[in-house]
Amino acid sequence: MAEIEKVKCLIIGSGPAGYTAAIYAGRANLCPVLYEGLQPGGQLTTTTDVENFPGYPEGVSGPQLMEDLRAQASRFGTDVRFGIATAADLSKAPYKITIDGEKEIETETLIISTGATAKYLGLEDEKKYAGMGVSACATCDGFFYRKKVVAVVGGGDTACEEAVYLAGLASKVYLIVRKPFLRASKIMQERVMNHEKIEVLFEHNAVGLYGDNGVEGVNLVKRLGEPDEERYSLPIDGFFLAIGHKPNSDIFKDYLDTDEVGYIITDGGSPRTKVPGVFAAGDVADPHYRQAITAAGSGCKAAIEAERYLSAKGII
Ligand code: NDP
Repeated sequence: MAEIEKVKCLIIGSGPAGYTAAIYAGRANLCPVLYEGLQPGGQLTTTTDVENFPGYPEGVSGPQLMEDLRAQASRFGTDVRFGIATAADLSKAPYKITIDGEKEIETETLIISTGATAKYLGLEDEKKYAGMGVSACATCDGFFYRKKVVAVVGGGDTACEEAVYLAGLASKVYLIVRKPFLRASKIMQERVMNHEKIEVLFEHNAVGLYGDNGVEGVNLVKRLGEPDEERYSLPIDGFFLAIGHKPNSDIFKDYLDTDEVGYIITDGGSPRTKVPGVFAAGDVADPHYRQAITAAGSGCKAAIEAERYLSAKGII
């Protein structure tokens, strides 16, 4: 059997939380190992401009920001690796993490920064047309819809951002919103409402898709369940989901407390979980703020906690 690798600090996930934890853990001489996970760089790699990360007065692209954070983490000795954590045993320290179903690592401290993944409506047609007109990432797939008609589902900041982005490529964008209002920030609401190519369909639900060779249209219900409910079809070429995210905490659920959605519950404002030496940072533990800068802040806290824990145990 292959020898089990032993480390002092293992970081899972490569968004702003993971990389910031790595920068701090590296500078504290914890020799951190970081596994990048399914989506290296995390959700921000699918974002266009990030305008609210302090230090970039002109904004910065999501992928560029993540590349900078990765380079900074590497500079202080973080061992950044490809791989996905597929199982965890947090019953006792040192904690065991399985990577890609085969490699085992034992770690004295664990920083979980696995982020969150885009949600789907749960329609059969989303699976049927996956990669054939259905997408949860406008910046990844928008290019395929130049001069075409697309729909975005959702009324939050993500949906508005994706609608504006797609409007720069497509000929027409419908924003399908189930409520009679947008939940997005005022500035994003204004950008959407004032955009000539975007039409907001308030009080609409998407209930199905149709098309012979990929998506050719969406079946909509206006004012679902009301006496004046109305059903109709709308021809579109692309269907984009932007209805929120699910935290990637499944493999830790047997050992850590989570809320009903799956967000890891930590101790007050700290990244401490109920297992000593195991910390959760970023979106996987944050149903409230979910910002790059708050994720980075919690990654910093997690690394400081890891350093103090190791020091108190006499490991460093
Ligand atoms: P949100 O949870 O804020 O919004 C989700 C949207 O999807 C809501 O309009 C919700 O409707 C709708 N929705 C959820 N489920 C369904 C469903 N089954 N059918 C139809 N509609 C549905 O998620 P976001 O991803 O937009 O944003 C997450 C966080 O990230 C927020 O705090 C946001 O402010 C932040 N963010 C910030 C950005 C920035 O500052 N640049 C960019 C993107 C996100 P309803 O309102 O009815 O619940």
